[in-house]
Amino acid sequence: MVFPSIGEIAVQHPVSIVGSASIAEAMQRMVEKGLRDIVVVDSNNKTFSLFTANDLIYLNTHGLDLAQPLTEYPCRALPCFPLTTNILEVFGQLCDDDDYLGVVTDNNELMGIVSYSDLISSIDPEIIIERQELYDLFRLREIHTTSAQTPISSVLCQLELIDDCIIVVATDLPVGIITTKDAVRIIAKQLPQEMSVSEVMTQPLQTVPHTATIREALEFINKNHFKRIVVTEGNQLLGVVRQRELVNLAYSRWAEMLRNHAAELQEVVMLLERQTVKLEHLATTDPLTGIANRQKFEKRIRQELYRVNRYGKERLSLILIDLDHFKQVNDNYGHPVGDRVLKEVVELLKQGLRTTDLLGRWGGEEFILMLPLTGLERAAYTAERLRESVAGNHFEGIGQLTISIGVAEYHKNNEMISLIEQADTALYQAKNKGRNQVAVYDNSRSHFISDTDLVDAGNSQDNAGNNHPDDAAND
Ligand code: GH3
Ligand code: MG
Ligand code: MG
Repeated sequence: MVFPSIGEIAVQHPVSIVGSASIAEAMQRMVEKGLRDIVVVDSNNKTFSLFTANDLIYLNTHGLDLAQPLTEYPCRALPCFPLTTNILEVFGQLCDDDDYLGVVTDNNELMGIVSYSDLISSIDPEIIIERQELYDLFRLREIHTTSAQTPISSVLCQLELIDDCIIVVATDLPVGIITTKDAVRIIAKQLPQEMSVSEVMTQPLQTVPHTATIREALEFINKNHFKRIVVTEGNQLLGVVRQRELVNLAYSRWAEMLRNHAAELQEVVMLLERQTVKLEHLATTDPLTGIANRQKFEKRIRQELYRVNRYGKERLSLILIDLDHFKQVNDNYGHPVGDRVLKEVVELLKQGLRTTDLLGRWGGEEFILMLPLTGLERAAYTAERLRESVAGNHFEGIGQLTISIGVAEYHKNNEMISLIEQADTALYQAKNKGRNQVAVYDNSRSHFISDTDLVDAGNSQDNAGNNHPDDAAND
């Protein structure tokens, strides 16, 4: 299994602050960047440490001086490793001691940090077996010892109780082992029961140092066909771990870690999902008015036109709306009032729209409305209703405002752009004719119908007098 280097998984360019900065400044930076921790760079000796939210909580509850420089506060050192370091080499460090590791270049520049979460994707039981030292495992098991002079009879009694093995010690040092398998041999040979255990034990005792990893221990067991390992620290007997326990413990440790990771992973997934929703919203929404922005509108209209072209006889119309003399609103009342007006106009435009209609902000004070399943006459009728709604509104502190509207209907296999151009041409016409009116681009005749020419859209007939079931269906 190939594991990446920490350079590959590090989050690059972490936000940092110089050690001479005050704690208050660090706090400010953390707020600005939405961080839980910030890297503190001590430029004198090029060391890095972490100032954390916990530090801040501590300072806060202890009423300590936030004006003091970070260097005077005992920030936790950020352990740093070269970027080529394999994650396996730092795994233990990250699991046991620190939440973060620094990743440094050859020149000791901090290029990134690795967090516990960064390791989630690389988690595997193999890692535990590879890295977990025996030290943590054998303590769980009691050791049974006996002196070298003990007679076989009492050793057999002891073995019966513990059903495993007994380590034979002489002057405090482990010298041999006697197992249940040895007991079979002893009993079969009918050796004298008063014989001392030192004469029948297996010796010398093969041991494994406590710093061995589980992988090394398992290899040792496999090579020697042992059922257990005796773990020592120097000459000292530390414990005995059976093969089964070794595997069980390694995997239960793994399971425990996975459980921790699962919670963390869940959190990360949720954060990412929330972030995605937020970003998606930002990317598709006009921040001032909350309606679709131009990108989203274009995307939706493309989808809709694709559908119309592919499937059917459905009609679709487009309405382009521009506020009249809006510049004067800004000039006379200021930009913030202008913004308020734009929002208010959007609220008026939204009223009475169908769920399939899409209103978007096309640009500054221009709005665009897509009306699926709608013919030109129905669209013109809708446009007129919108015009009336705005013209009839009292804008607080300003009075009356008007809009001009251009309407066009899509014709199969036309380009989206020409539909928009037609609506825009109609809008231009409405402006030219004095504003506060609706102009319709009549594609079939390639000329305009002014608002006075508008057919009674309520009767659901097009200019050729044909009935449009789509329109009727959309009332
Ligand atoms: P017309 O009737 O010919 O459309 O005249 P107009 O003044 O509405 O058109 P013009 O294009 O001359 O001016 C549009 C103004 O809209 C100018 C611009 O500053 C303003 N504007 C564009 N976006 C915003 C915005 O987000 N907020 C505010 N307050 N004003 C905006
Ligand atoms: Mg304009
Ligand atoms: Mg305008």
